[in-house]
Amino acid sequence: MHVPLSARRPLGITALTAIAAVFVALALGLLPRAGAQPTSRLQVVTSTGVFADMIQRVGGDRVDTFSIVPAGADPHTFQPTPRDIQRASTANVAVWNGLELDEVAERAVSALDLPALTTVTLSDGIEPLGTADGDDEAGTEAEHGHGHVGGNPHMWLDPTLAMRYVQQIRDGLSTADPANAAAYEQNATRYLAEIAELDAYALRAIEVIPIERRKLVTFHDAFPYLARHLGFEMVGVVLKSPGREPSAQEVVELVNEIQAHAIPTVYTEPQFNARILELAARDAGVQVRSLYSDALDDQVTSYLDLMRYNVDSLVEGLR
Ligand SMILES: [Zn+2]
Repeated sequence: MHVPLSARRPLGITALTAIAAVFVALALGLLPRAGAQPTSRLQVVTSTGVFADMIQRVGGDRVDTFSIVPAGADPHTFQPTPRDIQRASTANVAVWNGLELDEVAERAVSALDLPALTTVTLSDGIEPLGTADGDDEAGTEAEHGHGHVGGNPHMWLDPTLAMRYVQQIRDGLSTADPANAAAYEQNATRYLAEIAELDAYALRAIEVIPIERRKLVTFHDAFPYLARHLGFEMVGVVLKSPGREPSAQEVVELVNEIQAHAIPTVYTEPQFNARILELAARDAGVQVRSLYSDALDDQVTSYLDLMRYNVDSLVEGLR
């Protein structure tokens, strides 16, 4: 409701009392001070909800995890605001994928120069596959003017590599909080067994898909590790590099590929507007289904759910 200026009280007794009350409260230690730890739990910052879920499974009730990229957003192109980054200012541990998936957030958090921050890079020690735009890699590097390590960042979509991620998280939490190392070890062991069980389910489930139909066309280039692990061939992707829309000619070529390989289903991803792929699928006369990759949402809220959803979607679309 709009209050006319003349009806407002002058800055008087009420306001001064309120200000004085804050000073009194501060003096008595009643209000939290900036930088104070509200809890003894380990504070962990990461980029996506997929990693936040993994961290929470390993950390249990000993950690609070904050993911900078919101649910349903594309981490490749998401630009955190100063406010998003500010929320990371109490972090003890930072967990990044590496391989440029989350480098904007990583750089912004490292610029905070937090004391005694333990940083975990999940892709460390895993040999990366190339990206769909691999041919342009040399040119891209020259343009960016920095010698980044190229390679496809989506390793977690292969469950055996996700297990390496979980081990990295366990080791990082234990380094930052050695007093609880035994608990992290125990949680990780249980979680690793669940991922192994899921992997066994995946390998069994895809047996119903004929070998000649084990071919993938997806929206962005997130599935080469999953394809390699399951013995699928990556036939095509719509978005060859983050944020770059395909040309009309590239869409025509994709339709030709879908038809030449007799692919029955192509796959969109929930965090993208899939209109281009839907049109290509209509032209090629094939079905459209979805796969989860970089982002969780209300329907799929954990890494294990994401992988189960993907396996079932592959089986239904390609069998
Ligand atoms: Zn991605």
